[in-house]
Amino acid sequence: MEVVRTIEALRAAVAAAKSEGKTVGLVPTMGALHQGHLSLIERSKEMDSFTVVSIFVNPTQFGPAEDFTRYPRPFEVDAEKCRKAGVDLIFAPLVEEVYPEGFATYVEVGGVTEMLEGAYRPGHFRGVATVVLKLFTAVEPKRAYFGMKDYQQLKVIQKMVRDLNLNIEIVPVPTFREPDGLAMSSRNAYLNPEERQAALCLYRALNIAREAVDAGERNAETVRQKALDVIQSEPLAKPDYVAVVDPETLMPVDCVDGPVLVALAVRIGNTRLIDNMLIGGQS
Ligand code: AMP
Repeated sequence: MEVVRTIEALRAAVAAAKSEGKTVGLVPTMGALHQGHLSLIERSKEMDSFTVVSIFVNPTQFGPAEDFTRYPRPFEVDAEKCRKAGVDLIFAPLVEEVYPEGFATYVEVGGVTEMLEGAYRPGHFRGVATVVLKLFTAVEPKRAYFGMKDYQQLKVIQKMVRDLNLNIEIVPVPTFREPDGLAMSSRNAYLNPEERQAALCLYRALNIAREAVDAGERNAETVRQKALDVIQSEPLAKPDYVAVVDPETLMPVDCVDGPVLVALAVRIGNTRLIDNMLIGGQS
């Protein structure tokens, strides 16, 4: 496994793999790798013959009051996990490599960026789309792998790919959870034991929503309220939003008469967690 720090070295390593007839899969990450990331890597290894993992804590997707500086950066541990997982190439650039002096071009994806995370984290998806497009143009992968844990991000990337006619297949990968249901996230490391317990309310809320729909509830506001009640009954939890939305447009729905996405963002102490679940597919 090779580790490269510059876009030039990245291009050269990828070109060598392509010249051997390999297909390239790209897994963009911010590091602090966990089983969720590894499931993306496994999928890439199943579908492509050369897997590139990028590890870059992208400053442009963090707001000024967010956790950019304290975000975990255990690079040696991450590299070892990648090596064990059979990753072919790690791209781990410095901030100056991605955003050199004078950098001034950004990607603004419309529509699906406005609600949910977009409403609470202004500029977040602009930063995400910009760094992902830069990775796409540097690597030109056949496929890129994104977790459904960040469902809105997946939709933003899919929209960018469509709108800009990028010749890259976006592969969604299901959310990987801890045995008790908490969605794996690098930010779970911020939780103290009491908060870790409280964080289970996210998964509980999603399940309450699913159970209500499975039992025949069709009123989206009733479903939303049931999920919100679960969050509000947890003293350490403060919801930013709980929403029942169309899985494609991410616009709120009135009636659950097909698949809907229940999406939520909850603050547990100083840690902001997100989760979601697709429900109602069988009706
Ligand atoms: P991050 O390092 O948090 O930017 O995440 C990098 C990629 O891993 C994104 O596509 C995430 O959606 C995905 N990811 C993060 N957590 C999980 C999880 N628990 N299950 C599946 N994918 C995940």
